[in-house]
Amino acid sequence: MPFVVIITGIPGVGKSTITRLALRKTRAKFRLVNFGDLMFDEAVRLGLVKHRDEMRRLSFTVQKTLQMKVAKRIGDIAEKEPVLLDTHATIRTPAGYLLGFPKEVIEAINPNFIVIIEATPSEILGRRLRDLKRDRDVETEEQIERHQDLNRAAAISYAMHSNALIKIIENHEDKGLEEAVNELVEILDLAVSEYA
Ligand code: AMP
Ligand code: MG
Repeated sequence: MPFVVIITGIPGVGKSTITRLALRKTRAKFRLVNFGDLMFDEAVRLGLVKHRDEMRRLSFTVQKTLQMKVAKRIGDIAEKEPVLLDTHATIRTPAGYLLGFPKEVIEAINPNFIVIIEATPSEILGRRLRDLKRDRDVETEEQIERHQDLNRAAAISYAMHSNALIKIIENHEDKGLEEAVNELVEILDLAVSEYA
């Protein structure tokens, strides 16, 4: 049976860091797949964008078509090995929030877990200010809070259309990264028995 863990969290929450550290610690052999990377490959191939931060400004229909293509590729990968999918529960686009996993897309991927990494809006803002590599949208603490609320709601709708359990992992400055990493490792280790 395929084993897929979807890991989400808004930009600046520390998702990539936690993921990288957890992959080093888990006993399971996961293939790390970045949804944005696969979607970007496809969008570039079709001549739609030149930079990954242009994707969320494409039309809703085009983004949905791209999502479905990516979902099929992920399904193929998951037949062979456990997949840890780095992505977003919702994407804040100029026209409104876009669901990261519309019904057909979540059904095609059928994840075992949906992990949401969260932090406080002020922690997130601080981390964003220190990351100058990306063309991040400037958001207020209120907007960040709303986005995180919506991501929880979106996760419920994804669980509705798959067999996924939802896990919320907090990544606070004081609590320490290690605890957050260990919480993710616990979930990843479950894949060992699935592929035994
Ligand atoms: P990231 O590098 O993780 O911030 O992802 C880059 C971009 O990929 C995002 O800004 C979105 O445009 C796109 N992306 C990632 N995951 C999804 C998804 N599940 N659905 C639609 N677009 C996505
Ligand atoms: Mg990332």
